[in-house]
Amino acid sequence: MLDLAIIGGGPAGLTAGLYATRGGLKDVTMFEMGMPGGQITGSSEIENYPGQGEIMSGMDLMQNWPEQCQKFGLKHEMSQVSRVTKNGDIFTVTTSDGKTQEAKSVLLATGSVPRKAGFKGENEFFGRGISTCATCDGFFYKNKEVALVGGGDSALEEAVYLSKICSKVYLVHRRDTYRAAPSTIEHMKACENIEEVTNVTVEEVYGDASGVTGLKVKSKESGEIRDLAVPGVFVFVGRDVLNEPLKQEDGSFLCDLDEQGQVIVDLKMKTSVPGLYAAGDVRIDAAKQVVCAAGDGATAAVNIIEYLG
Ligand code: NAP
Repeated sequence: MLDLAIIGGGPAGLTAGLYATRGGLKDVTMFEMGMPGGQITGSSEIENYPGQGEIMSGMDLMQNWPEQCQKFGLKHEMSQVSRVTKNGDIFTVTTSDGKTQEAKSVLLATGSVPRKAGFKGENEFFGRGISTCATCDGFFYKNKEVALVGGGDSALEEAVYLSKICSKVYLVHRRDTYRAAPSTIEHMKACENIEEVTNVTVEEVYGDASGVTGLKVKSKESGEIRDLAVPGVFVFVGRDVLNEPLKQEDGSFLCDLDEQGQVIVDLKMKTSVPGLYAAGDVRIDAAKQVVCAAGDGATAAVNIIEYLG
């Protein structure tokens, strides 16, 4: 039986794995289907991780984390957890291949996934000209014009990144002020090839058999439609949490969630179910920063060790 099952291999899961194994837990397995590192590995420029003076990619930032954890005995199982249940004091972790493992405690650190904006053509052209990862797909649009939808930190940071590859970036936002940090707004405004297209709604992304050929936006003030003929559209409109493993057979959830599906935890990252913890973006009030997710992971691990003790 595992002492701790960690679900998710981003900054929260990895840091929990490091603290739990270094703190003396013997059987700790991190379930992560892909390469550990988490969603931040899709970010192109990080400049606010403490102690890292240089701007670096998310991939570079996370590069050494898995190895550091494995040194202290964290095991990595490359499988996806489909469900966590609890019977008495024991949790059962079921993976999508149908295998089960018992655990004395569980940490949910599954993070979040890009949210859909909900415009016409979004599903049809997803992966065929619509992308949620500038680092992965930006290069396909080298020296071409692209549009980017959103007005938060992710949107503006990725607009700046794309402006270095693409000939022009249309930054399409539904308001005329941004949610992003002031320094990020400043960077964006300094890029001569970013055109702000604000106070608009995306009417549709259209294309043909080969993919996207453009998008239509509608001015909220005049109702005028503007056609942007671009082969690529990037969407950064926030994220939805991944709480699926907590869903029980009867449709209820193993622990308490808020109305957006975020896991309710206390300051020890403890959920409403003893032995079940949550850390990182999946929890309520998450600041959605790598440093905060890592801090959550450490906090959870310290308290899990105490719980098991
Ligand atoms: P976010 O801050 O929630 O911003 C989402 C943006 O998308 C908002 O501008 C929002 O418009 C817009 N939007 C939402 N739904 C939309 C829709 N259906 N159609 C069109 N536009 C829509 O999301 P995020 O940028 O992904 O950031 C998430 C969190 O991570 C934030 O807390 C952010 O600070 C943090 N983050 C931090 C960094 C960093 O510190 N370096 C980098 C990335 C993310 P409105 O403004 O009108 O609501």
